[in-house]
Amino acid sequence: MYHYVRDSAATAFPDIRALSPALFERQLDWLQAEYTLIDLPRLEAALDDTAALPDNAALLTFDDGFVDHYETVLPVLTARGLRGAFFLTEDACGASPRLLPVHKVQFLIARLGVEAFGRAVLQACDAAGLSALAGREVLGIDRWDDEGARTIKQLVSHQLPFDEAERVLEQLFARHIGDSSAFARRLYLNEAMVREMAAAGMTFGHHTRTHRLLARLSAAEQQAELAAGVAWIRGLTGQATVSFCYPWGGPHTYTRDTVRILREAGYSTAFNTVRRRLSLVEDGRYELPRVDTRDLPPYTAAEPAPAPAFSTEDA
Ligand SMILES: [Zn+2]
Repeated sequence: MYHYVRDSAATAFPDIRALSPALFERQLDWLQAEYTLIDLPRLEAALDDTAALPDNAALLTFDDGFVDHYETVLPVLTARGLRGAFFLTEDACGASPRLLPVHKVQFLIARLGVEAFGRAVLQACDAAGLSALAGREVLGIDRWDDEGARTIKQLVSHQLPFDEAERVLEQLFARHIGDSSAFARRLYLNEAMVREMAAAGMTFGHHTRTHRLLARLSAAEQQAELAAGVAWIRGLTGQATVSFCYPWGGPHTYTRDTVRILREAGYSTAFNTVRRRLSLVEDGRYELPRVDTRDLPPYTAAEPAPAPAFSTEDA
């Protein structure tokens, strides 16, 4: 599972946590030495029992539809004859791109630092009469976050009412960084890039319409997040099947309703972020686990020592 693949130090936001292109190539060297890299249709054929997988099969997945995946990942994969699976949020990569709250938070923290960002959010909440930090739910924890970043991300992504959080973040983004729509057009893949990548053999899946935490939504609201994704991706790519991956993706970030709706809406498979090896026998096709790029070599000095690869800890 990959997210940003960029040389952050060379950008206006050096603190965005990304895998550098050089380390991405080194990781691919390692993966290609140890594993046989397959594409998503091949995994789905194995789940359907219509084809066997090679020993030590591995699949590359990329979340959130960043332009990094077109500018950096596509040329590298093409040069190596590899194919990846890319998961798109319609609000970000569709016809009218909108900067997702989850990424507003990341770029605001990168610009202001965690403390100043946290203070700004709490002030905005006070001004709006919202009681912040009412409870401390534990959803979508990223074990590389420090405590402060985790707390403030919890608050804005998982505790505040969605509309209020989005209003506060839009205000802060406009004040400290600028126009979020223009930013979105530079951050995300557009539909022309998706078409080009699909023509080059890449596979696409859906990642909701707005990237809201599905477990916080009613069944009807989840339906609205998921219903149009299969047709949208199919229209862009001509794919026979469309997969899905859950925003945040820990086991508590979606519900039984989510899995039912995915099946009824015609998705072929779905990936979560439970960090372990996938078992064709034991794993349901709507709860396929993944490991993070940071779980695998080469490990960088900047990151804490990793847990053993393929631990059962979930994200
Ligand atoms: Zn995401």
